[in-house]
Formats: sequence, C-alpha cells, structure tokens
Amino acid sequence: MRLYVLDLGRMHMDRSLIVAKWRLASSSDPTPPAQFVEFPVPGFYIDHPDGGILFDTGCHPDCMGPDGRWPHEFQEHFPYSGGAENSVVAQLARIDVAPEQVRTIVLSHLHNDHSGGLEFFPNARVVVHADELSACLLAYARGDRDGPYIWDDTDHWVKLGLDFQPVERAAPDFELQTGVRVLNFGPGHAAGMLGLHLSLRGSGDLIIASDTIYCAENYGPPARAAGVLVDSVGYLATVERIRKLAKQTGAQVWFGHDGAQFRQLRKAPESYN
Ligand SMILES: [Zn+2]
Repeated sequence: MRLYVLDLGRMHMDRSLIVAKWRLASSSDPTPPAQFVEFPVPGFYIDHPDGGILFDTGCHPDCMGPDGRWPHEFQEHFPYSGGAENSVVAQLARIDVAPEQVRTIVLSHLHNDHSGGLEFFPNARVVVHADELSACLLAYARGDRDGPYIWDDTDHWVKLGLDFQPVERAAPDFELQTGVRVLNFGPGHAAGMLGLHLSLRGSGDLIIASDTIYCAENYGPPARAAGVLVDSVGYLATVERIRKLAKQTGAQVWFGHDGAQFRQLRKAPESYN
C-alpha cells in the first residue's frame, strides 16, 4: 500500500470561517480588519493491492469565471486558484493512474472543494456519509445555489447515476480494505463527515481528518471551532475523538487545509508507504 498526496490547488476565504472568533472587536479596537487567507486543497490516492482508493476530489476545474460552475457571489467569497495541473485527473496522471483505475472514492463530505472532481470517475463506487448525501440532494432538489453544495456539480452526479454507497449515521467505523479504515465522524463541519485511518508499513498510523479539523489552530488543545459548521457540539466531540484515537494508535493527524503542514508533506509522484 502506497499513499500519494495530491496538490489540488489553492483557495481563499475569510479567516473567521477557518477559526471562529479568532479576533474580536473591543472598545479600543472597534473595527479590526478582516483577513482573506490562502489555504491548500489536498486530495489523497491510495495505491492498494485490492484496488485504488481516492479520498476527496478537489474543485471542478471549471468552477471559476463568468461561465464557471460556482455562482458569482460564491466565487467572490471562496475564489479557487489552480492550474490545469492541479485537477484531480492531472494529479493522478502524474503517478500514471487513469480514472478507470480508481475503484473506490471516499468523500470526506460534499462541499465544493472536496467533491468537485467526482464526475470524472463514473465507474467508481462512492462512499459518503448518508446524512451528507441527503443534505446535498435536498439542496439540489430545492434549487439552492447559495451554499457549499454546488448545484451544477450535483446535477452531473445525478445524471451519471453514480454508485453511491452511503454510510449510515449509526454505522461503526469499518475496514474498507486491509489497512484502510473509514472513520464515521457524523455531523460537525458538515451534515455527515468521514475520515480515514491508515496503517502504513513504513510511515506508521495516519488519520486523514479532512475538514473535521481545518488546521493546527483548530486542533489546539484547546480545540477551536471553525466558522463553517452545522453542529458545534458534534464538531468539538469529533476533534476530541480524533485526539484520543491519535494518542491510542500513535497516529499522525493530517488536517483539512493547513498551509504549513501541507507544505511539509511529500507530494505525488513521491509517496508514503
Ligand atoms: Zn474544505
């Protein structure tokens, strides 16, 4: 088993969405400036003897611009910057993996920057949290184009008839393939979050936390909530669950969008094994 880190480009957004209440106004500083910060968008590919597994798929390459997938206002608040080389298909090509070779996709959740490349893998089984899939499909059915579920992306998945394999709310964590466990985190940052716990022969245990923990500042201790969340109790419980699991197993924790941590990771075509 070999793990590849994919560089799927960069995004920007207001820092208060990454760490809620990171800076508060006061009587002596009543209008502190906001900060628009850059962060990386990662994806992960596991070359596995029982079939390739892709964890998260980044943004759709045509998300930006006047005819982009993302609504204009959304582009303003969450601009994506990445070249053709940062699409998930191009990143996989660097390691000679064609989309047809990806047997399984695990999606941490269905926000714009994690599911945008899903449609390029029409033959893969797609493991996603049932509550997340429901929330996304409800937004689609209602024609909701304001949130982080991109209507045009969902429309493509529906029309492709993708093989969704939802993980139910009460389902325990499970071994997807030898050495690869799916962690059922439940609600927090989004309606239903999934992570991975990998046991690598050389690099040891690793928890891919995705957006249950955006960055080291959220992990603490103490844990600090993100500004984007649907369940604050679930969010903080998940962070503590990850902390405990990491301690028990000696696992490293890889965050969802931590620039400093991401810079230090080996990127494809280099790998971890
Ligand atoms: Zn994200």
